[in-house]
Amino acid sequence: MYGAIREAIAMRKPKRKKTPPEVETRVLTRSSRRCALCFQLDGDRQEKEGQIAHLDKQRTNNVEDNLVWLCLRHHSRYDSKTSQHKNYTIHEVKEARKALYDWVKRRLPPKQAHSKAFDGKVITAWRAMATQRLVRIESYSELLGTIELELPNVNHTPHSDFTSVDITVSLDTTVSNRLNLDGSLQATLSNGLDTVHRGKLISAEVISFEDIQVSSAAKLIIDGIRGDATLHRVRGGMSALVEVIAANSKVPPIGLLRESVTIGSVRRAFVFSAEAVGSPASVKEGIRGSNICAHSFLVHFESQFRGAFKTREQEGGDGVSPADHGTVLVATLKNVPKGYSVFTTAHELKKSFDQALTVAVSTDFKGLRTKSDPIPAHLKWGETPMVEITETGLGTWEVTNSAIVTVNPKLTFGISLIGPPLEAPFSIQVGGALGPWYAPSSQRPGVRTATTTFPLPRFNNLEFPIEVKFGSP
Ligand SMILES: [Zn+2]
Repeated sequence: MYGAIREAIAMRKPKRKKTPPEVETRVLTRSSRRCALCFQLDGDRQEKEGQIAHLDKQRTNNVEDNLVWLCLRHHSRYDSKTSQHKNYTIHEVKEARKALYDWVKRRLPPKQAHSKAFDGKVITAWRAMATQRLVRIESYSELLGTIELELPNVNHTPHSDFTSVDITVSLDTTVSNRLNLDGSLQATLSNGLDTVHRGKLISAEVISFEDIQVSSAAKLIIDGIRGDATLHRVRGGMSALVEVIAANSKVPPIGLLRESVTIGSVRRAFVFSAEAVGSPASVKEGIRGSNICAHSFLVHFESQFRGAFKTREQEGGDGVSPADHGTVLVATLKNVPKGYSVFTTAHELKKSFDQALTVAVSTDFKGLRTKSDPIPAHLKWGETPMVEITETGLGTWEVTNSAIVTVNPKLTFGISLIGPPLEAPFSIQVGGALGPWYAPSSQRPGVRTATTTFPLPRFNNLEFPIEVKFGSP
């Protein structure tokens, strides 16, 4: 069937000029035969049966930038003209390809920082262990687990001629800690007593701790590492390669430990949904007397595990790697009718009079908190005050109550659109996301590494918008 269609197309189009083999090889290698759209839209990392597609749909244009590996389904959808849905744009596919190529490049095991040191014998009595933290699929700067190094009694090792070691931790993604101006990181190494060393970033993926005295310590603890979680969208583990070498020994240095540990376990943080509801009596009363009407809906953020939503303190691991913000739940609104104002509840809707877990905050268009607080409106949703968000079209609520981790909630917020009566039914697009998020750097596209300025944590919007339909008022 598919072959027949291809033949029919081939008869109409100019004859395909064969892709130069070296270009074809590059496309196959850089994509690793993963479909760019499956990867970007579904987080699907599996190898796909597919074809090399021409992005400009000109089958004679065989420059590499015009080519992409797509699965059969996505290739035919990309090429189709009669499709009912808005077709994938060339820029969208190029973005997806960029993200895929970046992932292929980085999915390989972390590179070894000290290959020379391990030509000789490795002292295996040293051990590395790690605790795992849950990492949200929606995140791209996530606090990872703690690494513990257990040292044997150094006086009884064959290499008692050294007293200090260099330690490197290489992630299978980029380090996304806050970078201090002197190049140090919030990630720390301690001996369990009082000595604390700050890590240094020696490449986008590698943190080092240098000249660590080991004479009295039996245990070294590395904590506070953050990693970019976007390359790990599919449920799985994030790992770190730990290498220890004797620092002040003769050349070549002696390798003491090389071990890979898992420090993150990737999960989906929340499920988002939205539904139109009748406007509460309190909202109708608030607008009574004017020639305007209200259309209301609910948005739900259903947490998928304890700690999927956190306060600022909890995001920073209780001080381990301080965060700038608590989790911000973000509802994005598109296609709000012209002349309409938008109001959200000032916190989640509650069944009882318990303290609210979240509070409405003002953010910029990236979901990043701004200093001002939203101004309370005259409207109320039942007993809950409302705030106006007309300007940004973003409903944003920051987690402020530490009880959120224990109750693992489904949070529901009310939103009302207020404006002149409309003749026809209409619909809006509503998406759910976690903020603050931040666009990747334009200098290093697709790479989110440690910086002095980016907010922590940063989240990525992976949710697709839901259509909410409103009938005639
Ligand atoms: Zn595909």
